[in-house]
Amino acid sequence: MINVATGCRHGCKFCYVPSTPAIDSRDEMLGEKAGVEDPQRDWGDYLLYRDDLPERVHEGLQNTDFEEEWKVTRRGRGVVMLSSGTDCYQDRRAAQITRGVIRELVEENIPVRVLSRSPNLTRDIDLFREADGLVAVGTSIPSFDASLVDALEPNAPSPMARWEALDELFRADVPRFVSFSPTYPTMDQDEIREALSWFAAIDPDVVFHEPMNPRGANFEMCLEATREAGYNDVAEELERIHDHDEWAKYAIEHIKLVREIAKEHFDRLHIHSWPDQKLIESATGEQEDLLNEIVRDVSPEVFASAGRF
Ligand code: SF4
Repeated sequence: MINVATGCRHGCKFCYVPSTPAIDSRDEMLGEKAGVEDPQRDWGDYLLYRDDLPERVHEGLQNTDFEEEWKVTRRGRGVVMLSSGTDCYQDRRAAQITRGVIRELVEENIPVRVLSRSPNLTRDIDLFREADGLVAVGTSIPSFDASLVDALEPNAPSPMARWEALDELFRADVPRFVSFSPTYPTMDQDEIREALSWFAAIDPDVVFHEPMNPRGANFEMCLEATREAGYNDVAEELERIHDHDEWAKYAIEHIKLVREIAKEHFDRLHIHSWPDQKLIESATGEQEDLLNEIVRDVSPEVFASAGRF
């Protein structure tokens, strides 16, 4: 996993990154370098670029004994994810660093998964094509309700702009995926089916799916944002799922619903669900079996096997 910056200007209200050690343990550094007082509350207002990352990646790769040191998962994959803790194409400077890092990795025949909410990523379609199947590119679209998405992801481009970027990847025949994440608790069968039909139109290799999991400060921020935007129904649902059992019920329901709708109506769509560890731990009986089966499932993408492992 490589992050091209610390912080993320998109400032998604449900983002879990500020509560991870990558941010949580850097209070002092963020205060000194970016004047950040509260890394969670100020999430979206700060961004520290790692401009020298391509050089550092280059050096790291030169000094790596791949046979001995490179971590291959028990499924045999050796994929680098770019980026899960920030948006690697959120602006020109981040995109510049991202481009450099992808070049270094591809040079070493290492498969790369690129995830961004920014249509800026289409600028690098030539680079993705040159990678000859080693790079898979995707974007997160939780819903096509643009104003609700705007309330929860205040600085990110609209869902349709993201879909159009996917469409460009499709036309350029770049390996692509969708992250249907996080689906909101108010989304019903019709809304999920409509979103899946948009995804099916760009023929992705896989659709990753994850229900919402607002906890701690994220929960308060989601609640505040939806209320301010006049989405009282969403705020009510969020309050309901703040209770662990209600959340688990909704999360399982959404996981099943997305898989069932895809199976029934979009036979070319492969859904790869991402159940939260807490959900797996609290499940029993049939639900536990289903979640364990999901966890064992391997994404059908071929790009990962195009690399050196
Ligand atoms: S784009 Fe990703 S990293 Fe950035 S705020 Fe949103 S969820 Fe967090």
